[in-house]
Amino acid sequence: MPIARILAIGDELILGRTVDSNSAHIAQRLSDVGLTVDYARTVGDGETAIVRALRSACRGADLVLCSGGLGPTEDDRTRHALARAMRSPLRERPAAWRHIAGWYAQYRPGAPVPEVNRRQALFPEAAAMLANDRGTAPGLLGKVGSCWVACVPGVPHEMEAMVGRILQRLPRLVPGLRAPTVGELWFAGLGESAAQERIPGLLSERNPLVGITVSEVGHITLRAVGTPAQVKRRIAQLRSALSPWLLPKAGLGPSLVHELAAAKATIACAESCTAGHTAAQLLAVPGASEVLRESLIAYHAEVKIARLGVPDALIRQHGVVSEAVVRAMAEGMRRAAGATIGVATTGLAGPDGGTAELPVGTVWVAAATATQTTARKVRIRGSRTRVQQRAAAEALFEAWTAWKRNAR
Ligand code: ATP
Ligand code: MG
Repeated sequence: MPIARILAIGDELILGRTVDSNSAHIAQRLSDVGLTVDYARTVGDGETAIVRALRSACRGADLVLCSGGLGPTEDDRTRHALARAMRSPLRERPAAWRHIAGWYAQYRPGAPVPEVNRRQALFPEAAAMLANDRGTAPGLLGKVGSCWVACVPGVPHEMEAMVGRILQRLPRLVPGLRAPTVGELWFAGLGESAAQERIPGLLSERNPLVGITVSEVGHITLRAVGTPAQVKRRIAQLRSALSPWLLPKAGLGPSLVHELAAAKATIACAESCTAGHTAAQLLAVPGASEVLRESLIAYHAEVKIARLGVPDALIRQHGVVSEAVVRAMAEGMRRAAGATIGVATTGLAGPDGGTAELPVGTVWVAAATATQTTARKVRIRGSRTRVQQRAAAEALFEAWTAWKRNAR
């Protein structure tokens, strides 16, 4: 398979101020169309460092895709570095300047084009221009040796559109490109070790390549990449080996929204320690408005009593972080919202406040349906945010199992 490499350019990236999400996006899209991405590197804004990184990345590769460093300010040096790597002088490109002036006329009517933006019209003579319909900086396409180099701006939403257009041109730039077939399955309720035990040998397969990824929000993904026939066979095998844990969609939130919507069923959340994360994981899914009726952040004990009908005596007897209280919260929420499923969380997100019996990260989750309420205690390690996110995922898993049981 043809080889691609990725360079993410910017001081903010090597200083850790901005997380390099561009490379992840680019790597995914390039591998989807059949390029082997053998590495992604981060480089600061120093021109010489970029030239070196470009030359080294181009050796033995078919395509190098760079993001960042195309801004109008003096610290943005990608185009200068590309000119040096291509040994092609930088000149102002009239078409690029027309694009920049046109962009200003459209989005900043009446404002003069800042003179510094002329830098964004500089192109190595031998490079082509890549249109940018979402910002001022056009991208660049050139060749270093026999390797194509494409440079796009760092702004993620500009980068994404431009990478899409580069992919359309790719078959002409890189002959012999063939997109592999990718099959994916999602599971919840079993860990990666348990999954591995049920599919011995398959995770070391190369034809098709089988990979497992554990998400932070409660599911695992198994991917098979290869020829259509290989992938079809392997996916069928994985599906049948792990069918009790299979999700219909890519995660618990999407699966719940999909199935509840199809059945015209609804859900409501009573969240204490999860502080809205449960609702957020559902509402991240398009179409969630059909299934989520309400999410109440019932933080204070008085709110649990007044709004969810949790008996005062229950809280005094068992404490707020308890099975009795989480069950009463889930049932109360279900009733109050008129939902098919009520889900609830109560726990200690930390970092302070733990005791020997109730250490930080202890969370009770519950799900109530018309016929049954179930509750489960989990212990989550990590930061406050991690406890909140994972506890929300545990609550969604409780809701998912309640739903499946209900459907049977
Ligand atoms: P422009 O997009 O204006 O041409 P540029 O390409 O240098 O300039 P920057 O000004 O460096 O882009 O970055 C623009 C924005 O994009 C910043 O908010 C920056 O943090 C973000 N950004 C840059 N590179 C990345 C990356 N690899 N991953 C995620 N965000 C990035
Ligand atoms: Mg930059």
